[in-house]
Amino acid sequence: MSLDLLYREVILDHYKNPRNRGELESPTIKFDGHNPLCGDVVTLHLKTDGEKITDVKFQGDGCSISQASISMMTEKIKGLATSEVKELIENFRAMMKGEEDSEIDMGELEVLQGVKQFPARIKCALLGWDTLKQSLAKLDE
Ligand code: ZN
Repeated sequence: MSLDLLYREVILDHYKNPRNRGELESPTIKFDGHNPLCGDVVTLHLKTDGEKITDVKFQGDGCSISQASISMMTEKIKGLATSEVKELIENFRAMMKGEEDSEIDMGELEVLQGVKQFPARIKCALLGWDTLKQSLAKLDE
């Protein structure tokens, strides 16, 4: 199996079986994101104890890249300190430009690095992350 095919399988698996999909009873913050270029939408529910992301869920609709990226993102950030999450956000954005710091372990999210070859889809991959960034900025206010 080629790497591309394997990557595609992982993306499709997250798209068809999204992780952490749903709503949180009493989120610390709930934030909507929208990618008008493709029609992708997301509502991110975050729960924090002031230091860590203790729980995360999302509701969303859109293309496989947008929804798989959000699903993988929620798996990756759950339990992490918000400072670590901010580092991941910046590194994911850098990855879309081919400028990621390989010292930072992106785990399964690395399957999305192929998206950088398709500029029109980068916004799809970034939707969840941009929404997460805005949510965290709001919490810092
Ligand atoms: Zn999309």
